Amino acid sequence: MPLSEEAFTALVDAGCLACQGKSQSKKVAVKALVAQRIPLHAGEPYGRPSWGYKGEDLVRGTYRVACEVCETGLFEATACPRCDSADGVERALNDENTFPLPRACRCGSELLVATAFVPAFVTYEGARAEKARTRTSPEDPGFHAFRVECTSCHTVEERRNPCPLCGSTVATP
Ligand SMILES: [Zn+2]
Ligand SMILES: [Zn+2]
Ligand SMILES: [Zn+2]
Repeated sequence: MPLSEEAFTALVDAGCLACQGKSQSKKVAVKALVAQRIPLHAGEPYGRPSWGYKGEDLVRGTYRVACEVCETGLFEATACPRCDSADGVERALNDENTFPLPRACRCGSELLVATAFVPAFVTYEGARAEKARTRTSPEDPGFHAFRVECTSCHTVEERRNPCPLCGSTVATP
C-alpha cells in the first residue's frame, strides 16, 4: 500500500524513535520514484532538468523512509507506486528505459522535453524538506521516460501501458 499523505506527514514529523533523545536530528531520508522533466536536443539531454511532480506525487512514489542517522527503515513499499504490481519498485529501480528518446519531432524540431520517472532522494526534517536530488541519467537503470513533448508544435507522445515504471501490463477495464 502506498502511504497516505497523513501517514507520510506523521512519519516525517515523528522522525526515528530509536534515535529520539540520543540525537538532535530528526532528519529522515525519503526515497521516491517521481517525474523529472528533461530538455532534449537531438535525443540528448540539453540543459538543466527540473522536477515535474507535486507533493502528493512524492508521497505516492515514496518507497522507502529511513532515519538519516542510524538508517533504521521507517517505511518500505515493494509494490509499484503507479500500478500496484507486486515487486514493482525493484523492477523500476533495476530495469532500463524502454521508451527511446526521439531525436526529433515529426515537425522537424529537435528541441523536445521528456518526462521520466527517476529515483529521487529528499531529506526531511519535520515538515521542512530539502530539494530533491537524483543520480540517474537516461542511460542508467531506474530511468523511465513516459512522455515527450515538442517545444515547437506541442505534439505529445505518451506511454501509459505497459506501466512505465515497472513494465507490468495494466489491465484495462
Ligand atoms: Zn535513527
Ligand atoms: Zn507499475
Ligand atoms: Zn513538433
